Amino acid sequence: MTAPIRPALPRVAASRGRRPTNISLWRHVTSQEWDDWRWQVRNAIHSVDELEQVVRLTPDEREGIRLTGRDFAMAIPPYYAALMDPSDPSCPVRIQAIPRTCEADGLGMHDSLGEDAQRVAPGLIHRYPDRALLLVTNMCQLYCRHCTRKRLTGERKHALSSAEFEQALTYLRAHPEVRDVLVSGGDPLTLGDGRLKQYLSELRAIPSIEILRIGTRAPVSLPQRVTPALVKMLRQYHPLWINTHFNHPKELTAEARRACAMIVDAGIPLGNQTVLLRGVNSSPRIMLELVRALVRERVRPHYVYQCDLEEGLAHFRTSIDTAIEIAEALRGWTSSLAVPTVVVDAPGGGGKIPVAPSYVLSQGEDRVLLRNFEGKIIAYPQPAERDATCAYDAKWTAQSASFTAPRKQQRLRVVGSPANKRAGRSVP
Ligand code: SF4
Repeated sequence: MTAPIRPALPRVAASRGRRPTNISLWRHVTSQEWDDWRWQVRNAIHSVDELEQVVRLTPDEREGIRLTGRDFAMAIPPYYAALMDPSDPSCPVRIQAIPRTCEADGLGMHDSLGEDAQRVAPGLIHRYPDRALLLVTNMCQLYCRHCTRKRLTGERKHALSSAEFEQALTYLRAHPEVRDVLVSGGDPLTLGDGRLKQYLSELRAIPSIEILRIGTRAPVSLPQRVTPALVKMLRQYHPLWINTHFNHPKELTAEARRACAMIVDAGIPLGNQTVLLRGVNSSPRIMLELVRALVRERVRPHYVYQCDLEEGLAHFRTSIDTAIEIAEALRGWTSSLAVPTVVVDAPGGGGKIPVAPSYVLSQGEDRVLLRNFEGKIIAYPQPAERDATCAYDAKWTAQSASFTAPRKQQRLRVVGSPANKRAGRSVP
């Protein structure tokens, strides 16, 4: 077990939410322009010359920008650039936004998650039994250096055409087992409200789609995008959930908090997915601070992802031990509301696999030995009656209108568990 962390962590410092006046590049920008998301997108930083007016680039960063420019160009909204430490290249915001030479080392896989093979219509990936992923655009406000979809994002700009979207809708109408659609990209919030509304309304019109979700980094990289008009439009499509992507407490500025509050106040549950990134958040202490800060803002930490095997991400990867250490540092040390599931998104389309320390030390017929978060060992008695058959299950399943049989369900049982041994079961 890792050493317990008993943090007396400071609250995240509240930013004043004003445009920076000390950076020459934006000296003449008005507050109105700064708060306008379209101005932020138009004025995103793409070149070394612009960036050098914001931070003191290292030779490695300068070369990294040159080497990666053709395959995965840099784009940093002024708001996000202003969060970077101008003199410290280890700044977690800077590492996520500025390429380094290691990004061009050629290590890693192309399409490591095997998404291309699971594409069933333009932009539509159907991997799991009852949900699908719809990539509506390949554009983002910020091109994160750790992006898993860098093979798609940032290249020639593309949003789904009407004809392509119609093909995706045709598939979804023909597959009523899909009850949950995640609208992602790229970042769907790079689109205007009108286009987004069109996508959502057509998806919502399919009766079998119960839940819509949006995956967006806008609250983090471009909180100005979250406007009263946007949330007013989004709330028409409930049940709608949003998942965002904070990786470090430094990103939870006053503007980001305001954007999160607007989303949540519109009744939209807001979750967060963090990518575990070496040098950014590969520390139990930082991760603990992040999840606590998120919950304070009513953002539910949902997943921590092990960094994928995609090409150009090798320098961000950590060992599974680090992931387990972080999982262990959260569970029990803070509210379970703040504890995300740490997962590996398995290469080749294997899906998300949770990784966690084991709290079950041994299982016997009469008792199980468990370990709590402090390392204390507890004997937990097994009940005398072990048959867990739920007598009402078949009746309920037969009459439940909302139950849709999964396409394929394979139940794997724990090898050698006492229950299996008693029942003479083997692993299928
Ligand atoms: S916002 Fe998401 S899709 Fe876009 S570059 Fe960042 S991680 Fe990739």
